[in-house]
Amino acid sequence: MRGNRRNIRIRTVIFFLGALVLIGGILTKNNLSLSMLTAGEPKTSTHDSLASSQAKTTAVSKSLDGYKIVIDAGHGGNDPGAGGVSGKEEKEYTLALSREVYELLKLEPMFEPYMTRDDDSFVELDDRAKFANEREADAFISIHGNTYTDSSISGTETYYFSDNSRLLASTIHQELVEATGFNDRGVKHEAWRVLTQSEKPAILMEVGFLTNKEEEKKMLDPAARSRVAHAIVDGLKQYFTQTGDH
Ligand SMILES: [Zn+2]
Repeated sequence: MRGNRRNIRIRTVIFFLGALVLIGGILTKNNLSLSMLTAGEPKTSTHDSLASSQAKTTAVSKSLDGYKIVIDAGHGGNDPGAGGVSGKEEKEYTLALSREVYELLKLEPMFEPYMTRDDDSFVELDDRAKFANEREADAFISIHGNTYTDSSISGTETYYFSDNSRLLASTIHQELVEATGFNDRGVKHEAWRVLTQSEKPAILMEVGFLTNKEEEKKMLDPAARSRVAHAIVDGLKQYFTQTGDH
């Protein structure tokens, strides 16, 4: 009987030890998955704090240097863009207008402008958006001239992709249409690559049709081009005054 009791005790001890090992194992497993969870959490919170520190940096940079505006002159280098009626290429028009917008923005303390290209160089589409993202630009403005096989087609159109770009598009478009006096072809939603890759409000404007004789003439006229440049700057001023610091 004693022997049996001892055996029972030993078995009970072994059972409890086994149970302890099992519980220990479960706990360790839970700890592991907990630590895996917490290993994931700092990433999120780091991201959050990065985002908030970015917001702080942006707020600080706004008060010091103004809103960062990236002006993107469409095409360039071996990509001429549309061919105008006169034989002029779109890339020349976009660069001339972009330079003018850039110079005007530089005069405004509320803006800190950048250009994705300021000469006849080729810049990949993705690099244009990346340029703006890396600088944490507050707005990305891509400037183009339109083209169509039917030379009678004319007018101004402005594109946006993300919802946070819609207001910027409509504000600048209104100014643009007033300045050009061209047909209002409206604000349109389109997944242009430079727009889909941009993190901040981004728009693409087709000022007018270079394939339309009358429009091309007006677009290439320095005085008319200057009015368009002022319109873009006015639109930006209006937009950032409306939206404030956010
Ligand atoms: Zn273009």
